[in-house]
Amino acid sequence: PEAGAGPDPRSSTELAAAARQFFERCHGAPADAVWTAPGRVNLIGEHTDYNGGLVLPVALPHRTAVAAAPRDDGLVVLHSAARSTAPVTLPVADLRPGTPDGWAAYPAGVLAELRASGADLPGVSLAVVSDVPAGAGLSSSAALEVATAGALADLAGIDADPRMLAETGRLAEHRYAGVPCGVMDQLAVACCRADHALLLDTRDGSQDHIPFDAGAAGCSLLVVDTRVRHRLADGAYARRRAGCEEAARLLGAADLREAEQRTGAPESVLAALPADLRPLVRHVMSENTRVRRVARLLRAGGVRGVGPLLTSGHASLRDDFAVSCPEVDVVVAAAVAAGALGARMTGGGFGGSVVVLAETAVRCGSATGRTNPPL
Ligand code: ADP
Ligand code: MG
Repeated sequence: PEAGAGPDPRSSTELAAAARQFFERCHGAPADAVWTAPGRVNLIGEHTDYNGGLVLPVALPHRTAVAAAPRDDGLVVLHSAARSTAPVTLPVADLRPGTPDGWAAYPAGVLAELRASGADLPGVSLAVVSDVPAGAGLSSSAALEVATAGALADLAGIDADPRMLAETGRLAEHRYAGVPCGVMDQLAVACCRADHALLLDTRDGSQDHIPFDAGAAGCSLLVVDTRVRHRLADGAYARRRAGCEEAARLLGAADLREAEQRTGAPESVLAALPADLRPLVRHVMSENTRVRRVARLLRAGGVRGVGPLLTSGHASLRDDFAVSCPEVDVVVAAAVAAGALGARMTGGGFGGSVVVLAETAVRCGSATGRTNPPL
């Protein structure tokens, strides 16, 4: 792992300075532009984004920084401090889906998408440093894409509108990394503000920044990476998604959100569906309701009241949507048994991370854990 990964991430300024230093060491000249973007965790609103529903992500203090400079030899040269291997180097003219592959597909895909939209970027050098754990469901991929898009937009003299950066990142992830992700990750990473959750309506694209400062409410938001990733995840995700689409079709709606908005009464919607689709729809509709409730609580300053909604959201994902796994259930149950206000799996499921809302125990000291000696 890179230095700095873990509970004490570097500030945006420190990370940008580290990216500039790393760039200079790799490329032998200073960078012209540096951008940083945070990882994100979804507080609540799971498996709603591809159903036109609501999500409520928050930015993490952990960030990715990308330093960049133009080149006049028609090459793209990519270094990451997380990869000790040789840099990835290739002619910009050779960029296409599948080339390059691996981690370099994310930043190279962003370059290709920006060029396709007319950006004047004949060649670039890049250097990446990051404190966002990769592959933990915290959107290290979106942080890498959005930070790359910001740095390259700067080089090309393009207005770096957050929604444009997010859309460029999403297209790069779809086309170049081959991951058919939803719209949430990149929008969260590009648009979230500090001490706010982002209520994102994936149906109409509207955004609402809601104050959320767990620390000020005497609480901590913990992210527990189980480091478990079950192999059935991809097929199971595709089946859940197809089930939701089939239910929407049977209900004569473009998506489940439209079905919900049209009928208003989930019970009557459920009765009209085959038994195997009912739990899927029940999760999606009840999850949208939970997101609205959490948003309402946060607006009213009721951070602690959010806990039970996280835990009931987990039960819905476990029992109705059936995307949890024993390891994740154990972490959620242990957190709640130990006195947490609430806990739930976050991300697609079958492993990944758990988000826990807990009162900040005096015994554990400050958020950095340094106030008291270890027990
Ligand atoms: P997540 O976005 O949840 O962290 P993904 O599988 O979507 O998980 O993305 C992780 C991948 O993104 C890594 O395997 C790697 O290819 C790429 N990546 C993310 N951060 C970096 C980094 N700092 N350096 C190189 N590659 C990175
Ligand atoms: Mg990702």
